Amino acid sequence: MDAKRLYEISKKHMWLPFTQMKDYEEAPLIIESGEGVILKDIHGNEYLDGYSSLWLNVHGHRRREIDEAIKAQLDQIAHSTLLGAANVPSIQLAEKLVQLSPDSLTRVFYSDSGAESVEIAIKMAYQYWQNKGESEKTKFVTLSNGYHGDTVGAISVGSIDIYHRVYSALMFDSYTVPFPSARNHPSGDEQRAKEESLADMRKLFEENHGQIAGLMVESMIQGAGGMHIMPSGYLKGLEKLCREFNILLVVDEVATGFGRTGKMFAVEHEGVQPDIMTIAKGITGGYLPIAATVTTEEVYEAFYADFTEMKTFFHGHSYTGNQLGCAAALANLAIFEKEGLVEQAARKAEYVQTLLAELNELPHIGEIRQLGLMCGIEIVKDKETGEFFSLEERAAYRATLRMRELGMLTRPLGDVVVFMPPLAASYEELTKMSQIMKQAIAEIQLAAK
Ligand SMILES: *Cc1c(COP(=O)(O)O)cnc(C)c1O
Repeated sequence: MDAKRLYEISKKHMWLPFTQMKDYEEAPLIIESGEGVILKDIHGNEYLDGYSSLWLNVHGHRRREIDEAIKAQLDQIAHSTLLGAANVPSIQLAEKLVQLSPDSLTRVFYSDSGAESVEIAIKMAYQYWQNKGESEKTKFVTLSNGYHGDTVGAISVGSIDIYHRVYSALMFDSYTVPFPSARNHPSGDEQRAKEESLADMRKLFEENHGQIAGLMVESMIQGAGGMHIMPSGYLKGLEKLCREFNILLVVDEVATGFGRTGKMFAVEHEGVQPDIMTIAKGITGGYLPIAATVTTEEVYEAFYADFTEMKTFFHGHSYTGNQLGCAAALANLAIFEKEGLVEQAARKAEYVQTLLAELNELPHIGEIRQLGLMCGIEIVKDKETGEFFSLEERAAYRATLRMRELGMLTRPLGDVVVFMPPLAASYEELTKMSQIMKQAIAEIQLAAK
């Protein structure tokens, strides 16, 4: 099919996620192929994958070992259900995931996307207390500015106003505690912001622990909320409070898992042992939709009983435990081991820090936030006052469109340009990406004057 017809059909019949279709019509993009960290569109234009194809990709595209694992699995079977039956690669992957996860976690419940892994975590935590006869424990606590996916349960434990406000009547109520932010604290001090947030959490737990099933937080860094990093000791502090008040700690590692922050899982930065952990994005190297909710033996045992006790976890999706996806995940994790990829990512993150420090010279750069290879570059109108551009100016969005012209893809989060390269990006490729970002952001300045 020729390019013109593909565009016409895409404009006429498609509705893209998280996309104002009016924007798509003005600057359409259709990808045809990829190789390594390069994506190619239907005209043959090449782009560096500066956002890991929305935070998923690990080893680049068309990685031979993963391609071959999927082909080999196809010769066995593509899919059979996990309802009431297991399958070979899903068993092997469960063992691997438990090995890699924090010691507390021993049980793997599969699904197909990050949001589903969160829905499952919510229902699992809720039913855990029901099954234990503590039927009052039905509520969740979250942090302001949190993001856990787009399904109705996931938005009910999320709190990003522009994504969630319109659905407020659909959502169940959760308690929200302010995320500790130095910038929003009168003292401007991160550790004081942390102490205050922990004190708020303690007060909420003291007054309401009898109604609270779980605390749901992103691990160490809030991604979709704009790349905000927790002050050190904060996640550990939350863990202690959960233990003290008998509340399940549910940690969302959908974005941060699989080496993204320089550790296999971000909880390792603080030695935190969650009761439930959600994983997705990087699990298959960015190939196929596999997700999982990983939990403890204690949670599992609350569901284990004679059928007639009605303690079964009545939840499942048609494609759960898909063999092709599990085979891709196993090949993905084998490459992690073979190449020591997590250590490599930690070293690359140090290099990226030096690259981003150079961007700091530009007049329209606000804060630059980074944890491992998860980076947010804030675009401001006025560097002195920290004033942002107006919604109409869409400075970060326009900067990313310019990056596209210069040969790199990424997407903004409000005023923040996301930089999240595949873990396997080479030092040269990282340098090239930062040069493109620098040029595009420098040009905002020209446009603004
Ligand atoms: C992306 C993301 C999700 C949702 O994952 P999907 O696979 O897009 O449904 C959930 N939690 C966090 C922290 C995420 O970054």
